[in-house]
Amino acid sequence: MRKHIIAGNWKMNLNLNEGYSLASEIKGMVIDEITNLNAEVVLFPPFIHLAGIKKLIEGSAVMLGAQNCHYKDSGAFTGEISPKMLKELGVKYVLVGHSERRQYNFENNQILAMKVSAVLSNNLHPVYCIGETLNERENKNEFIVNQTQLNEGLFHLLPSQIKETVIAYEPVWAIGTGITASVAQAAEMHNFIRKLVEEKYGTQVADEIRILYGGSMKPDNAAQLLSCNDIDGGLIGGASLESRSFVNIVKAVKS
Ligand code: PEP
Repeated sequence: MRKHIIAGNWKMNLNLNEGYSLASEIKGMVIDEITNLNAEVVLFPPFIHLAGIKKLIEGSAVMLGAQNCHYKDSGAFTGEISPKMLKELGVKYVLVGHSERRQYNFENNQILAMKVSAVLSNNLHPVYCIGETLNERENKNEFIVNQTQLNEGLFHLLPSQIKETVIAYEPVWAIGTGITASVAQAAEMHNFIRKLVEEKYGTQVADEIRILYGGSMKPDNAAQLLSCNDIDGGLIGGASLESRSFVNIVKAVKS
């Protein structure tokens, strides 16, 4: 049985006080309201929040993730943060290849492959994001686009390494738009992704790897999406900025 992950990607939002309040509220609600937590709950705040939030969530089931990292552990890379630094801070997961970084920071699959490896060599877990644009889907290229992102950015890993990674399928047209992939569209792509993992790494790895859905997941559509066999949780942007919405998505994970 794969343990679900409900991950909140705060992106470049919230000042320090707002971030600390949100993390405290989420921690409190998870402790007070959820007796049988069936998911890993992970917050991905901006870098400057990480150290403070790590202290705030101590003693709870809430975990910490980072939105990005460099592919080197140290060096002359002004403005960058390394996976080694994130490890020291107590981070567990690192997003790699979010579509906004692919689009605005021109990160390609080759760079992302190096980041994935760097994250793993620091004993952290990459959450490798893939997804097609609307144009690619309209041209019926959604399967080949996702397959290429996996082949070039992730499938260089050894079986022992891929087991430590998480894949997030996030159709770009659904991110921040309020348009969610239908359950059928999401289920079809998750099934396709798991089959690709199986072809490359075998059934056991395919059965174990977690594949999250991201793209306008909200409390009112979460239960349906999360009830699909191949959907092992959610990567949530907008709805993760409001404690009640986010915790209600955590509660939508079936027991
Ligand atoms: C995201 O940023 O990964 C995301 C899925 O955002 P939203 O939930 O706002 O669509």
